[in-house]
Amino acid sequence: MSILESGIKNAKNVVNYIFGKDSILQLGSLLHDLRDDRTSYAIYFIDKYFEKNPELLKNLHISDIDLVSYIDTEHEPKTNDIDLLLSKLQQAEKDSPFALIGIGGGSTLDITKAISNLLTNEGKAEDYQGWDLVKNPGIFKIGIPTLSGTGAEATRTCVMTNPKNGLKLGMNSDYTVFDQLILDSNMTATVPRDQYFYTGMDAYIHCIESLAGSYRNAIGDAFSDQTLKLCREVFQGSDMKNDQNREKLMVASYLGGCAIATSYVGVVHPFSAGLSVVLGIHHCLANCIVMSVMGEFYPKETEEFMRFADVQKIKLPRGICQNLSQDQYEKLYQSTVIHEKPLSNALGEGFKEILTPAKVVEIFKRM
Ligand code: ZN
Repeated sequence: MSILESGIKNAKNVVNYIFGKDSILQLGSLLHDLRDDRTSYAIYFIDKYFEKNPELLKNLHISDIDLVSYIDTEHEPKTNDIDLLLSKLQQAEKDSPFALIGIGGGSTLDITKAISNLLTNEGKAEDYQGWDLVKNPGIFKIGIPTLSGTGAEATRTCVMTNPKNGLKLGMNSDYTVFDQLILDSNMTATVPRDQYFYTGMDAYIHCIESLAGSYRNAIGDAFSDQTLKLCREVFQGSDMKNDQNREKLMVASYLGGCAIATSYVGVVHPFSAGLSVVLGIHHCLANCIVMSVMGEFYPKETEEFMRFADVQKIKLPRGICQNLSQDQYEKLYQSTVIHEKPLSNALGEGFKEILTPAKVVEIFKRM
């Protein structure tokens, strides 16, 4: 197999991380050390789920001067959502915090990263969709994941969709990487089983796609191998959500994020993006729906994925792409084949000869 350059010449990982149950208790002293004086404030971006379920957050001891913003993650982040959040901070004169703290799943973490960059770089979110466009280091940012799988805590991007042109692309930059992570597996205890499975499978799918591709590197492969080993231990077991397995999946998510940061995904993510863009299905569920029909591209892995779903008694929605309009099928095709890098990674430069419009629609109809 040919090993091609992944384009990342000098990889950057998260600078500091604290791992372990109850490690969130250390947030207070971290912030204390960073805070200049009594007028300096931090901003918390917290998944809306915790507004109604405050037990997990009662240990945070949020200072009166700090600002808390609850993030609605019903829809995945759009560039104008981020611009709106930024202008609210500017209007409230809360645009020079000493730190940002993101507590939530991939969307909340990505929003934290994007706002951190925009507070020190002029312009709008869409101005920085691409590679290495961010000029200045962002505000110091701390990530505390409450879901495991997307790897958002580890990567140098923050995924967002631009509704004007349908472009789903993040701010790929060394400045997007978190300065500090707190990986506390207590945070994932209350995640519903279905969501826990879908999100965990994102780490699995990133790594099977990466290992099957042509753009590879030895460190990325090592991260992927270990991620898959941990995912197998978690999802083959009878209780995927026990203490030990939640710790393992949190590590798998982080390592999977490191893996994908220096390699590319394959066939699954482009089809999944089609489902997200055209039908509004969340990333991780969309991945699982696609994975169930990937037998011809990833035979062993598809079988293994179906076995995980079976062991964990997870039912996937079926028939979601039957009876759509011609226009919707056309959009599904376009929003899949637009992802040239991953599809070339998986199928070679001539991927459009394999993924003809008829073939792509046939695959969607099998879901
Ligand atoms: Zn993913």
